[in-house]
Amino acid sequence: MLVAADTTSLLTALECSRCHAPHAAGVAQTVSRCCAAPLLARYALDAAPPRSVLAGREASMWRYRELLPLHDDAHRVSLGEGLTPILTLDNLAARYGLRSLLLKDEGQNPTGSFKARGLSMAVSLARELGAAGCIIPTAGNAGVAMAAYCAKAGLPATVVMPRHTPVAFQEECRWYGADVQLVDGLINDCAARVRELNAAGQLLDVSTLKEPYRLEGKKTMGYELAEQGGWRLPDVILYPAGGGTGLIGIWKALREMQAIGWLPADAKLPRMVAVQAENCCPLVETLAGRQPNCQQYQGRPTIANGLAVPRPLGEALMLQVLAESKGTALAIGDEDMLTGMRELARLEGLFVAPEGAAVWMAARQLLATGWLRPDEELLLLNTGSGQKYLDNVLGRHTA
Ligand SMILES: *Cc1c(COP(=O)(O)O)cnc(C)c1O
Ligand SMILES: [Zn+2]
Repeated sequence: MLVAADTTSLLTALECSRCHAPHAAGVAQTVSRCCAAPLLARYALDAAPPRSVLAGREASMWRYRELLPLHDDAHRVSLGEGLTPILTLDNLAARYGLRSLLLKDEGQNPTGSFKARGLSMAVSLARELGAAGCIIPTAGNAGVAMAAYCAKAGLPATVVMPRHTPVAFQEECRWYGADVQLVDGLINDCAARVRELNAAGQLLDVSTLKEPYRLEGKKTMGYELAEQGGWRLPDVILYPAGGGTGLIGIWKALREMQAIGWLPADAKLPRMVAVQAENCCPLVETLAGRQPNCQQYQGRPTIANGLAVPRPLGEALMLQVLAESKGTALAIGDEDMLTGMRELARLEGLFVAPEGAAVWMAARQLLATGWLRPDEELLLLNTGSGQKYLDNVLGRHTA
C-alpha cells in the first residue's frame, strides 16, 4: 500500500532484473519472486522535470528526489549524504603525463564511505514501509552506515561482520547502539548467519541487492557526476566493485538521464571499469572464462575489506554494465594498494581507503597496457576514507 505522497517521487514499480516481471512498490520486497534476481526501481521518467529544477536545491543526494523511491519526506533519514566533491589530481596527473585525472571523494560522506548513500535510502524506506528493525551482513562500511542511520531513525540494528574486520568498524557500530555479531569467514558466511538470526523475518534484511533501495541511493553518484561535470561525462569511470551496487547504480543513473533528456539520447557514455582485489576477484575470473559464474568462487581476505565479496548477487548486472559500456575488469594486489595509498597521500593529501587506492593502481595498469590513453579524462571513485582501515595498514606509510 502506498503512503500518502507528499514528495514528488515518480516511482511506479519494481521490476525483476532478469525477466522484467513487475513487483509492487510500497511494500517490503526482497529478490524477485520469479527468478530470485535483484529488483530494480522503475519511474515515470517521461514526467520528470527539466534539470533546471536542481538549481537551488539542497546539497545532498536528496536533490534528485523525483528519481528516488521515498514517497513521504517525513520518513527521510538523512545525515547529509552525497554531493561529495570531485577533486582534480594535478600532481599525480603531472607525474604520469595525464591530461585530466579526477577523483570523486566518497570518503567525505557521513560515516566515511559511500555506503551512506545506500543505507540512508534503505533505512528511510524501512521506516516508510514500517519495518521493525534492520539486519545486514557486511565487510565493514555498510554495517557502520546502517547502524548510524538506524540510530537516527530509532530502529534496532543487527550488524554481522567478519571477525577480522578492523576494530574501528566494529566499535563504531557499537557506539551507534547496534548489536554486533562476529563470524569466522567472509561476507557470504555473514549472510548465512543473517539468515539464521532472521529466520522469522522480523527484521528487514538490507543485504546488497536483496532489497531494491540501496541501489537507488548509490545511483545518485551517477546523477552527481553528470550535474557536477556541467552535464559532460568523463571518458572512463573506474570503480572498486564488491557487491557492485555503485557500478550498476551509476550506469542506471546515466540511462535514466538519457531517457529523461537530462543527457542527450546519443551522449557518449563512459567506459566503466570494475576494479577488484587479487584475493577476491570473482568478476575477473568469470570474464576470463575460468568459471561459468561466481557461485562457487572462494575468496580470501584482503586489506580492501569492501572488495571481499566472493559471490555477488549482482554479477550478471555487473557483466551487463561492462559489456554495454565497453568496459573491463581487473584485479589489484594488496601490496599495490599500499603503493597507491602512499602515492595519493603524499602527492594529493588524500588518505583513501585501500579500495580507492586499488582504483588508482588499476588506472596505472590500464595506462601501461594502452587500454587507457593519457589524453582521456579519467574519473576515479574513492569509495571510503582510510581512517578505519588502520589495523590493515599500520606502519605501512613507507615502503
Ligand atoms: C562496500 C565497498 C565497496 C564495494 O561496493 P559495492 O557497492 O559492494 O560494489 C568499495 N569500497 C568501499 C570502501 C566499500 O565500503
Ligand atoms: Zn524474473
